Amino acid sequence: MERSGGGSNSNTAAVQATNDDAAASKLSCVNKGYMKDDYVHFFVRRPIRRAPIINRGYYSRWAVLNKLLLQFLKLEGLSDGDNQKRKQILSLGAGFDTTYFQLLDEGIAPHLYVELDFKEVTSKKAALIDHYSQLKEKIGSDASISIEKGEVISDHYKLFPVDIRDTPKLDSIIDLAQLDPLLPTFIIAECVLIYLDPNSTSAIVGWASKKFSAAVFFLYEQIHPDDAFGQQMIRNLESRGCPLLSIDATPTLLSKEKLFINQGWQRAVAWDMLKIYNEFIDIQERRRIERLELFDEFEEWHMMQEHYCVVYAINDAEGLLQDFGFPKDQNV
Ligand code: SAM
Repeated sequence: MERSGGGSNSNTAAVQATNDDAAASKLSCVNKGYMKDDYVHFFVRRPIRRAPIINRGYYSRWAVLNKLLLQFLKLEGLSDGDNQKRKQILSLGAGFDTTYFQLLDEGIAPHLYVELDFKEVTSKKAALIDHYSQLKEKIGSDASISIEKGEVISDHYKLFPVDIRDTPKLDSIIDLAQLDPLLPTFIIAECVLIYLDPNSTSAIVGWASKKFSAAVFFLYEQIHPDDAFGQQMIRNLESRGCPLLSIDATPTLLSKEKLFINQGWQRAVAWDMLKIYNEFIDIQERRRIERLELFDEFEEWHMMQEHYCVVYAINDAEGLLQDFGFPKDQNV
């Protein structure tokens, strides 16, 4: 079954609006002490308080991405010995994500961080970066910011507008951003590809595999559309005008891994978020955040976490990424 509604302008606007939702939810977590992010509040017009289960879900999403990113940024072994300075991050459908600013504060920002999204979103992000000195200072005084073009160009951070379904355009953006396809690259697609039609999703995954020979592709998105919880999740998003167009093409962990392998990635590993929360997120961190709010929705928490997953796919031309990822003996 193919879900309808893709491609129209109202659909595109609804998908863009999911970004405002993500930023507001992240701010809700920050305000409750789940995580530290000194920048997300610049991107939220009306702060809201999310329910504890939503906060815990967003925290686990943030924690798994950060833990895997940190593993990548700490990898040693480049031939010239110059390690994270020469690493790259490419974020597809980056929205108002603030990871770059946080990595800078932690002193572990990569050599180049590139973010892509629709122009409507990148223009707003460029305007906010231009407006708030705390953001503008971070990207450096030599940065060029164009709200009209929806672009930010600095030495180490770049923001460009593009419809990522247009893979030939992605090639020119890679050149424009001066991303080097031979350098180790971490590609992020967090709640993005699932909104695209399955052909576009496959094309992007295949394009990235052909382009980057030493890379991790990190995907976070929904699974299991067919049970009662999954059907409700899908109805909720459809009623907001943003159907999960790719979910029936990759409804399970195995099918998500196959998507990457069929598109040329050397290795792919998919875990659901329940397993990730229980077996990958640090136990001390779990204990800390579990004390933050009263929580008794355990059955719903388990169901919700089973309906989200992380897939990472690896191309390891340089043999750098052998130790990257979830604990090995527990891969699916
Ligand atoms: N990745 C960010 C995060 O996790 O906070 C934002 C996620 S938001 C749910 C989805 C983002 O993907 C939106 O900002 C939307 O505009 C972007 N997006 C969806 N389809 C896109 C496309 N075809 N080209 C570029 N960006 C797209």
